[in-house]
Amino acid sequence: CIAVCPCGALTSNSSAIEEVWAAIRDPKKTVVCQIAPAPRAALGEEFGLGSVDVTGKIVAALRRIGFNKVFDTAFAADMTTVEESNEFLARLVKGENLPLFTSCCPGWVKYAEEFHPELLNNLSSCRSPQQMFGSVLKKKYSKDLGIAPEDMFVVSIMPCTAKKYEARRPEFMTEGSYDVDAVLTTVEAARMFREAGIIFDALEDSEFDQPMQQTTGSGVLFGTTGGVMESVVRYVAGKLLNAEGRVDVEFTRGMEDTKIASINVGDNKLTLAVVNGLAAAEELIKKIQSGELTVHAVEVMACPGGCVGGGGQPFQNDGERRQARAREIYNIDAKLVLHKAQDNEDLDKIFEKYWGGCCNHETHHDLHTHYRPKKRIAGNEILIKDGEGPEIT
Ligand code: SF4
Repeated sequence: CIAVCPCGALTSNSSAIEEVWAAIRDPKKTVVCQIAPAPRAALGEEFGLGSVDVTGKIVAALRRIGFNKVFDTAFAADMTTVEESNEFLARLVKGENLPLFTSCCPGWVKYAEEFHPELLNNLSSCRSPQQMFGSVLKKKYSKDLGIAPEDMFVVSIMPCTAKKYEARRPEFMTEGSYDVDAVLTTVEAARMFREAGIIFDALEDSEFDQPMQQTTGSGVLFGTTGGVMESVVRYVAGKLLNAEGRVDVEFTRGMEDTKIASINVGDNKLTLAVVNGLAAAEELIKKIQSGELTVHAVEVMACPGGCVGGGGQPFQNDGERRQARAREIYNIDAKLVLHKAQDNEDLDKIFEKYWGGCCNHETHHDLHTHYRPKKRIAGNEILIKDGEGPEIT
């Protein structure tokens, strides 16, 4: 496919880029973008800026090329933390479906559906931040704007191509329209900016749109290995201990492929594991299933280093570069005033306005999902029929 830029001067061979340019040119479409945490520490590499935070420049560039609204997927990461932490606490009380496995990474979810159907009841039922935000935008925010879901075109800037696959899962739709219409990798977003003639390094920073504007450090941490677990610990510690200040977690940080620690949260001793890379996940699963290891929660990210090392990030994507991006993610966290997901007042207001609060039947309908075992035949994925495997709803 050939994509054409608005001025017709340059072309690209990406169908996602072509779809996004077409939506921007379509006067009937309200075009909305969300930016995942990991691209903000990597996209500047495409313009010679190194692995530095370029969030404000990405927002500015998106406005210049014609996006109507720009939001931060880190906002939806806070939403995920609130829903997933409460799910975790409920499972701890009941002693059910432990350990809880995170479900933000579509590479891991697909692997579990294909190779570990016995674990599907252990996966968090939370949608990933990308899909939570897509659902909020299509089901709720479109109504605020007075438009039909199909007249809103939602674009994500993500660190990987697995997010393109996730966006096309049939369960993530609203009234016949995909919750996320197009996914651009970090590299594709940079290509669009070049096609539009944007002088990226000269851009003045721009802010995200209201009313979902606030970002916490916790939400940004989703961009690196250990970040989801640290966010959950911050939330749970804050909630159970009424901790108002910063709660930093050390064991989750670093690029080792497996990190395990036991921590005390009030009267609870929790053993938590973080793995990146599916080989490390497989080893950990074997230890859990053999009884060698007992854990309460596991974060799994398919890519080395987590999303900072995603396949859609700029080349060169080696260990040193991944570490530099992760360092910048932690720098952003350190600078942000808001630290834990429960500090996000915009999020509180959105939970209240759209669902009458968090973690209830209504949020479960819009922000959670279900998994089905899949099997592969000659390279094609097929879904095992209902009744042949467990389903979480
Ligand atoms: Fe995508 Fe890799 Fe992040 Fe998983 S870990 S969401 S595959 S970038």
